Amino acid sequence: MAINCFAAFETKKNLNPFSYVPEKLKDGDIEVEITHCGICHSDIHLIDNDWAISTYPFVPGHEIIGNVKNKGSQVTDFAIGDRIGIGWQRSSCLHCPQCLKGDDNLCPVQEATCVGHFGGFADKIITDSHFVFHIPPAIPSEKAAPLLCGGATVFSPLYEFPVTKFTRVAVIGIGGLGHLAILFAKAMGADVTAISTSPQKKQEATALGADNFIVLNDAAAMQKHASKFDLLICSASSFENWQLLISLIGPRGKLCVVGAPQEAMKIAAGSLIECRRHVFGSNIACRAQINQMLQFAAKHKIFPMVEVFSMKDVNTAIEKVRNNQVRYRAVLVK
Ligand code: NAP
Ligand code: ZN
Repeated sequence: MAINCFAAFETKKNLNPFSYVPEKLKDGDIEVEITHCGICHSDIHLIDNDWAISTYPFVPGHEIIGNVKNKGSQVTDFAIGDRIGIGWQRSSCLHCPQCLKGDDNLCPVQEATCVGHFGGFADKIITDSHFVFHIPPAIPSEKAAPLLCGGATVFSPLYEFPVTKFTRVAVIGIGGLGHLAILFAKAMGADVTAISTSPQKKQEATALGADNFIVLNDAAAMQKHASKFDLLICSASSFENWQLLISLIGPRGKLCVVGAPQEAMKIAAGSLIECRRHVFGSNIACRAQINQMLQFAAKHKIFPMVEVFSMKDVNTAIEKVRNNQVRYRAVLVK
């Protein structure tokens, strides 16, 4: 049976209906009837071929919630009808040193849900059941979808830091990932500062729990927070002034880059040496952390702010994401 979806056929263009016949279900696979799919900015980067890895037709979508429709003979963790989630990662080898350590998101032969495979802007998907997650009943489906990629990606560095009530956290770029970073950091007890190019987001960032709000190009306000933060999480989808962010990192503090702009980072070596500042990147989260993140979100009621669109209105939703108008995650529903 064909799977119906929406695909980009060329870079930077609208999506159009597309269908394909999937490969036969393998023993470890699961077939899912999709009910919800978030729009992550990585989908936009891929539609636009910002990372020079896209192939067309390209079916975006890697924040998937749905119900198990069918499963292979070796799938024991899921029953037909279970509500499940699927994120960025589709598979890993499960036996390399990284996988054995639990760092399955660092596996050198990992595959992504919508790179080299057709993703979740679709009515169904067949995928490897090892990277499928049970969703806690307390989380409504439209709120659960953004957690599968956006939530996992910001939870991981906060959890690993580890953030406590003594940690001063700054979040740069208050979009899908950034607003979730505020929610998670606050629930972990941190003092949280939101840094944004959009002054109009101040009220919402404060309502999400941010203790301070700074407009990125307000030089005086930035100066007041110089060398202050223990952990900065940059989730901006486009960014240039990295040196400005370095000046905000405190002694032994860390800048974690999760946003993936295509521009190169330019940082003066001396500004890292001084104060032993660290800069590191972080990709999604391993499976164990994704499960912990889902439990933590259910317990602390960390529910993203979402705007829901019908799947057929996918191009309208994408346009709003492109224009930085979504508050704060667009979710497509069946
Ligand atoms: P999003 O919802 O579109 O939010 C991105 C935010 O970046 C915007 O809301 C805006 O926040 C800020 N921004 C946009 N243009 C900017 C510019 N020119 N200068 C400074 N800030 C700018 O995107 P998202 O879904 O949260 O994704 C954010 C980034 O994370 C993307 O690059 C995505 O590919 C990446 N990502 C990485 C991983 C990973 O594993 N590392 C996982 C998922 C996503 P303000 O209005 O507050 O300035
Ligand atoms: Zn994503």
